[in-house]
Amino acid sequence: MPATQHDQWADRLVIISGPSGAGKSTVVRRLLETCSVPLYLSVSATTRQPRPGEVDGVDYYFLSHDEFARRRRAGEFLECKEVFHRGDWYGTLRSEVQRGVAQGKWVLLEIDVEGAMAVLEQYPQAVTIFLHPGSLEELERRLRHRGTETEESLQRRLEVARRELEYLPRYQYEVVNQTVEQAAEEICRLLQQIQGARHAGRTER
Ligand code: 5GP
Repeated sequence: MPATQHDQWADRLVIISGPSGAGKSTVVRRLLETCSVPLYLSVSATTRQPRPGEVDGVDYYFLSHDEFARRRRAGEFLECKEVFHRGDWYGTLRSEVQRGVAQGKWVLLEIDVEGAMAVLEQYPQAVTIFLHPGSLEELERRLRHRGTETEESLQRRLEVARRELEYLPRYQYEVVNQTVEQAAEEICRLLQQIQGARHAGRTER
């Protein structure tokens, strides 16, 4: 990758991780609507089936396993992982990051903990935020309320959440999602502060 592209991306990445079902997507949507920091949400690719209401190219690029593998071989992903260890792949497309950066925006990656670590290895300056519902009990309550999971997949998600929580100390910021408004506001404030600090750093140099 050319050095210029690397540099351009380095201080534009914001990673948000946290247990699935913690309301991450809703918080991110709210953040995009309300925060003054210019943000571009990277649309990930996945091999999993769309949930009711999910739209291709908006929520995810829903790809067949063959197409995902082809793109992986072609080096189109910044990172990609088999997230739930049951054969479904998720990945961040380089083209998405490029699109956000070209628009002069910060690029938001809503990805799992392993994906986050893989991005951090390449871009240590990336901002990392761990969003979680406060406790595993609260997460279980929310997942049941959402009603999109079978009992088996719910238990699997809770198990994954338990393991994901172990990564919390490796994130720079922790946000507890009590309400959508509060979590989005907290993240926005963080980003405004970081933006201000980086801007000050640049003008001092
Ligand atoms: P869901 O199936 O509920 O939409 O997402 C499941 C998990 O996959 C979530 O933890 C989400 O953050 C993660 N995920 C979504 N997109 C990506 C991606 O591009 N890369 C990685 N590594 N994880 C992702």
